[in-house]
Amino acid sequence: MNKIVKNDGKGLVELLGLDEGTLEHQGNYCFMAARNDSRVDIYTEPADEEGETIRVNAVYIDDEEYDFCEWCKELMPIDEMRKEVQLGYLCGNCQRAIASRGEKLTYED
Ligand SMILES: [Zn+2]
Repeated sequence: MNKIVKNDGKGLVELLGLDEGTLEHQGNYCFMAARNDSRVDIYTEPADEEGETIRVNAVYIDDEEYDFCEWCKELMPIDEMRKEVQLGYLCGNCQRAIASRGEKLTYED
């Protein structure tokens, strides 16, 4: 994942749909939170010198790595998506929808 959010706690909650009040800083820009009874581990790094924004590098929900479908913006397991060379990760529904419009998709795998 490569998303930049505000480092005020709310940025991560809004980006990932975390349950309110569950976000905990674990140190070293790592966070833990809850989301619908699942455990969320979030790995980030500073994205500016003042530390006002952070870059989200990786998100694991119940130990499975998640990312956003670039087309429908749904957060879902990376295993359920494919990476298109131009567009990035696409879920199965979006792969079919884009292909059905006659666009050619080239996957990295
Ligand atoms: Zn999608």
